[in-house]
Amino acid sequence: MVVGAGIAGCTIAGELVRAGITVGLVDHHDEPALETSGHQTALAHPQIGKKITKLQRFTQLANQIANHQWQNSQITQAAFEPRRDLNQEQLSDLAERCKEIGYDHETIQLIFKEEAKAKTNIDANGIWYKTAAVYSLPKICHQEIKGLLPEQLHWGQTIQKIQYHQNEWQIFSQDGELISTSKALILANGMGVQELLNTIAINLPLRPVRGQLSTFHIQAESPLVPFLPKAVLRGDGYCMPAKKLKDGSWSWEVGSSYDEDHAEKNVWQESDHDNAIKGLTLIGCEHSLINDLEPHSAYVGVRSASKDRLPLIGPVPQHPGLYLACAYGSRGVLWSALAAPLIRAYVEAFFAGADRLRAGFLGAASAALSAEVTASVNPARFLAGALGARTSNSKPIFPVS
Ligand SMILES: Cc1cc2nc3c(=O)[nH]c(=O)nc-3n(C[C@H](O)[C@H](O)[C@H](O)COP(=O)(O)OP(=O)(O)OC[C@H]3O[C@@H](n4cnc5c(N)ncnc54)[C@H](O)[C@@H]3O)c2cc1C
Repeated sequence: MVVGAGIAGCTIAGELVRAGITVGLVDHHDEPALETSGHQTALAHPQIGKKITKLQRFTQLANQIANHQWQNSQITQAAFEPRRDLNQEQLSDLAERCKEIGYDHETIQLIFKEEAKAKTNIDANGIWYKTAAVYSLPKICHQEIKGLLPEQLHWGQTIQKIQYHQNEWQIFSQDGELISTSKALILANGMGVQELLNTIAINLPLRPVRGQLSTFHIQAESPLVPFLPKAVLRGDGYCMPAKKLKDGSWSWEVGSSYDEDHAEKNVWQESDHDNAIKGLTLIGCEHSLINDLEPHSAYVGVRSASKDRLPLIGPVPQHPGLYLACAYGSRGVLWSALAAPLIRAYVEAFFAGADRLRAGFLGAASAALSAEVTASVNPARFLAGALGARTSNSKPIFPVS
C-alpha cells in the first residue's frame, strides 16, 4: 500500500505494478497530483559543481532515468545557464572539468554568446544542458498509475493513523475506519509523513518549504520583448521560454521562491516581486524594468525537505515493511527517478524474506553507485538515534561483488 498520489507515490506504485507486485494507492484527493505535484513545469537537469560530488553523480544518473522513462511527459527539452561571469578561457576550463566529471558533449556543452543568442536569445556565454527537460508532474503521475485497477485506487481517503498489527500494517481514515491492511506500507505523502509517523511514536524532522512560480504578462511594446528567452533558462531560479499571445503581448513563467518553514498556499506579492527580479537577472535586463512584468497568475506549492536536503527513501528502522519516500525538496523529478527502483528493490527483498538488497538495482548504474544512493538517502540517518540500534529491516547488506 502506498499513501500519497503525488509524483513520489505514483512513480513507486507504477514501478511496483511493473514488477508484478499487487499495490494499492490511497490519497486524500479524488485524483493524483493535486498538491505539490500539481506543478506543470518542473525542470530537471544534471548538476555541475566545482568538485565531483555525490549529488552530481546522483543527478546525472537520475536525469538519464527520467529522460528515458518520462519522455511523454516532457513539455520542452534543454536548458541554458547564462554565465556572464565567465570569459572564453574560464569557459574552456569549465568544459575540461565537465569532461573529467564524465559529461559528454551530448549531455552538457559550454557555448559562447553568439551560439547562445541563436539558441536562446540570450547574449551571454554559458552552459547548455542538452539533456535537461521540463516535465509536467501531473502527466507523469497519470502515466505511472495507468496499470492500477480501479479497486486498487483509494481516492478521497485521508489517512489519519497507521498501526502494525499481527505482522501487517493497517491504515485508518479520519473517522477511524480501517481502509486497508498490507505487509508493506510506503509513506509517500509529503509533509503528511510526519503526522503518520507520529501515530507510531516516531518523530521525523521534516521542514516545509513554500515555493511560488509567477506567470507575468508583458505588453507587446515593452522594451523587454527583444530580450525574452526562447529557451528554458536556469541560474538563481529558472524560467520558461516566453510565449507570444494572439494579441502580440507575451506570457512568461519565472520562479521560484524558496520560503523555508512556511506552508501557506496563498499567492504572495513579495514572491512575484522576487521572481520578477530573478527573471530580469536571467535575461540580463535592468531591474528598473520590473513594472513591465505584470503578475498574472501563480503556482504555489509546499515542498517537504530534510535537514541535509537529501530525500528520505528507504525503510524505517525496527518497523518491518514500513518505508518512506519523502523530502524530495526541489528535485521531485530526479528523486522520483531514483526512489521508485530503490523502493521496489527493498520491497522485493522484503517479500523474498531476504535481508539482502540487490545493490545493482539502478539498472543504468554500477552496483557501487546504487549502494551509495541507498546509503545516502536512508531515513535511518535521522531515525537511528531516536530508535536505538538498527534492525534487519533498516540495514541493507550488499553482495560482496
Ligand atoms: C515552486 C516550486 C517549484 C518546484 N520546481 C521544481 C522543479 O523545477 N523540478 C523538480 O523536479 N521539482 C520541483 N519542485 C518540487 C516538486 O514539485 C516536489 O518535490 C514534488 O511535487 C513532491 O511530490 P510528493 O509526491 O512528495 O508530494 P505531493 O505532490 O504533495 O504529494 C503528496 C500526496 O499525499 C497526499 N496526502 C498527504 N497526506 C495524506 C494523508 N494523510 N492521507 C492521504 N493522502 C495524503 C496529498 O493529497 C498529495 O496528493 C518544485 C516545487 C515547488 C513548490
